[in-house]
Amino acid sequence: MRAAVLVEYGQPLELRDLPVPTGPGVLVKVTAAGICATDLKCIAGANPDLQLPSVLGHEVAGKVVADSTVLRRGTEVAVQISAGCGTCRHCAGGRETVCHQARRLGFDIGGGFAEYVRVAEQQLVPLPSGMDPAVAAVSMDSVLTPWRALTAHRQLSAGSTVLVVGAGGLGLNALQIAMSLGAWTVAADPHPDSRQAARSAGAEVVVDPNDKSLAGGYDADLAVECSGTVAGLAFAVEQVRPGGAVVCCGYTAEGTAPVDIASIVRREIQILGSRGGTREEAEMALSAVAEGVVRPVIQRRGGLADLNRFLTELRDGRVSGRQVIHP
Ligand SMILES: [Zn+2]
Ligand SMILES: [Zn+2]
Repeated sequence: MRAAVLVEYGQPLELRDLPVPTGPGVLVKVTAAGICATDLKCIAGANPDLQLPSVLGHEVAGKVVADSTVLRRGTEVAVQISAGCGTCRHCAGGRETVCHQARRLGFDIGGGFAEYVRVAEQQLVPLPSGMDPAVAAVSMDSVLTPWRALTAHRQLSAGSTVLVVGAGGLGLNALQIAMSLGAWTVAADPHPDSRQAARSAGAEVVVDPNDKSLAGGYDADLAVECSGTVAGLAFAVEQVRPGGAVVCCGYTAEGTAPVDIASIVRREIQILGSRGGTREEAEMALSAVAEGVVRPVIQRRGGLADLNRFLTELRDGRVSGRQVIHP
């Protein structure tokens, strides 16, 4: 099968012919694979768990190649990034997202920048009828991740104020999910194009976080930090109300952020982490997309041969929606 392979950190992916993956699990013919900023982190060498050569691509949709226990050949599916073992204390406690045994698509096992992937059956979520595979693929990360961040950690009530920091792949979907939950939304992003995208997505207020006149101005009940940047986390902590929470669901190679400890103590702020989503949340996120509650933006599509160019444009900040590869 054709695949785009990360052979050496910091270098373009190489188009190669690889054997179709064998072993346990279900073989899926990839119909769409989204490009995520995390792929850039992997290429840069910021993911120490990666074994080279490696096939990236963790936002995947496809077709089941042969009948499995519960799915018929040809069934269109979205592929969850990982499935928990189902038996450890994390899985039993509803946190399969942090299961130590989870093998992650595009990280621990070959990902979707290839013609085929082989994954555990419980990772496969049948598509609602008529759903574009590209939309389904990007939903497995760029919708599912903010879905969990907004619903699993804090109870939002109608009229809550939600601040979304970073109006990129995760943030634009976070805004739409927050609105569907009845929240009043504020979006913050230093880039004018991203602020424009946040306005188009329906944010009530859109701000530049570098505008110092805003200090403490929005009293957000919940801040969802999607930028993964040091500045983004500082802004989220500053803008959340006393007793409020900051949920971090994005990260970058930028690494460690100093935080204002006094501000966290004096205002009793909670800082939480959120990673991907559970199987149940994946089904809910796909339903929300099918109902039009969340509309992921597919900016452009291409084949494996376009992948390096698309990655460069993402790295250069020239992409506001998702780019999708159809291998
Ligand atoms: Zn991702
Ligand atoms: Zn487990």
